[in-house]
Amino acid sequence: MTWRTHMCGEPTKELVGEKLTLSGWAARRRDHGGLVFVDLRDRTGITQLVINPELAAEAAELAHQIRNEFVLRAEGTLVARSAETVNENMPTGEVELQVESLQIVSRSTPLPFQLDEENVDETLRLRYRWLDLRRDKLQRNIGLRAQMVGIIRREMEAAGFLDIQTPILFKPTPEGARDFIVPSRLQKGRFYALPQSPQILKQLTMVAGFDRYYQIAICFRDEDLRADRVQEITQLDVEMSFPDQEFLYDVMERMYARIWRECLGIEIETPFPRMTFEEADRRFGTDKPDTRFGLELEDATEVTRGSQFGVFAGADAVRLIRVPQELSRGDLAKLEELAKEWGAKGLAYLVYDEEGEVRSPIAKFLSEAELTAFRGEPASTILFAADTWPATTRVLGALRTHLGRELGLIDDEQFTFLWVYDFPMFERDEDEGRWTAVHHPFTRPTKEWEERFSGDPEHALAHAYDLIVNGNELGGGSFRIHEPEIQSQVFELLGMSEDEQRSKFGFLLDALAMGPPPMGGIALGIDRMTMVLAGEPNLRDVIAFPKNQAGVDPMSGAPSDVTQEQLLELGIQLLEPSN
Ligand code: ASP
Repeated sequence: MTWRTHMCGEPTKELVGEKLTLSGWAARRRDHGGLVFVDLRDRTGITQLVINPELAAEAAELAHQIRNEFVLRAEGTLVARSAETVNENMPTGEVELQVESLQIVSRSTPLPFQLDEENVDETLRLRYRWLDLRRDKLQRNIGLRAQMVGIIRREMEAAGFLDIQTPILFKPTPEGARDFIVPSRLQKGRFYALPQSPQILKQLTMVAGFDRYYQIAICFRDEDLRADRVQEITQLDVEMSFPDQEFLYDVMERMYARIWRECLGIEIETPFPRMTFEEADRRFGTDKPDTRFGLELEDATEVTRGSQFGVFAGADAVRLIRVPQELSRGDLAKLEELAKEWGAKGLAYLVYDEEGEVRSPIAKFLSEAELTAFRGEPASTILFAADTWPATTRVLGALRTHLGRELGLIDDEQFTFLWVYDFPMFERDEDEGRWTAVHHPFTRPTKEWEERFSGDPEHALAHAYDLIVNGNELGGGSFRIHEPEIQSQVFELLGMSEDEQRSKFGFLLDALAMGPPPMGGIALGIDRMTMVLAGEPNLRDVIAFPKNQAGVDPMSGAPSDVTQEQLLELGIQLLEPSN
């Protein structure tokens, strides 16, 4: 017996008259008393089965029992549909299988939701993920992801990168999140940390002489979950010795071009444009600009020095965006609300009507020079942020993205890739009153900052780069510190004592003392890449078995309780029983 001679998406007119066997799921059944029609579905598509009691009495008898999502095997002859029943929307819409023998292979309990039902509660979908995954959209997303990973592997291997697996049970590898820790039974009282990335390990593969490494790696980051975050991130992780910036960019660009070509049939332009962090921040108010539209920020700090308008005069920075529309009071009130959420105290504006007349409560405070400098087109609005430079960046950057979407300035069909580079090396953690690494502590300063980064951490630049598409950060990387003295200097600046350096990163410092090559690399998020590729707004819908926003898997119930014996073996006592 064969389960199938063809997949359900394959039967077309050319096969009419042939005997076919198909197996799959009953997607829909229509019982017309006599004739029974069943849409039989597998991963490749749907073929319509027709069961005629006059031609196959036994099959017709059985067909009445079929319910949605039963698994069936059908043998029969492929026939052409009559002209009025041809369905042009499906690839198999010109044919149907005239069933001669039918088998119900397996049955299904009543479904918690129908596959074609919209807006099913996500917890319910995750609880029955195996069903949810049968839907077209998820089949497509997961398929696209697999196709993409296949291309990535082929491109990386063609470029001479070796797939090297690194351990999951390891030691903390800082990427700015909290660690997941795993207790050790054999070494009671000690814990492994799950890697936030294989960063140190991939550097060690370079010290070990492997020259070019890659891995499709899972990274574990115990973060508070926001809508677009998961705790298990999959990334393409890459490292090379004797790094060459142009080579690295080129490999990535070639890979993306091929992914877009083979998965979407779209030619993307390479090389990708490049922009320094400073320029991105200045023009777009973000380190991940969506360059599909304008609405660029302008700096008005100079013009507003000594302004009669106190808010402008007293601010470190005054910046603006010009909106090509005469916004109403209602619009402006809504925008002000948003601006406040992003940390602004208010939202000053100038509205120019059709005649070019200005309407604004602040206009009377502004000098001729200011008004001339701001002068907007008729039917436009100027929005201001006056604050510290970073605060104006945050507010106007977010406003710009919001308005780009609201005003329909974004072409959804377009993909704009961009490299952003020369990031600051450190940022101040105001709560803790110390410096933290913007990328990670293994990132080297740019050439010009090598000698003096520790004297001026605020301005020091890192040899780091991010890859952006349509305002989404796909990932980033850097050239690494291979000199143990510089690495120690960075650790020290981050507030780590010598003892702490030894206990946390002694093995890295030791390795860097034994002939390390210069190295650099990058990591790119596979989940986010799939989202962009599939045009899928929900991160969890590009992952086969995701957890929900509370880090819980509604399907298996993980994380779950462990027995008292297990805890005892680990030498662990719970302060409070789990809830
Ligand atoms: N380890 C970094 C990350 O996970 C990427 C890199 O620097 O290669 O973001």
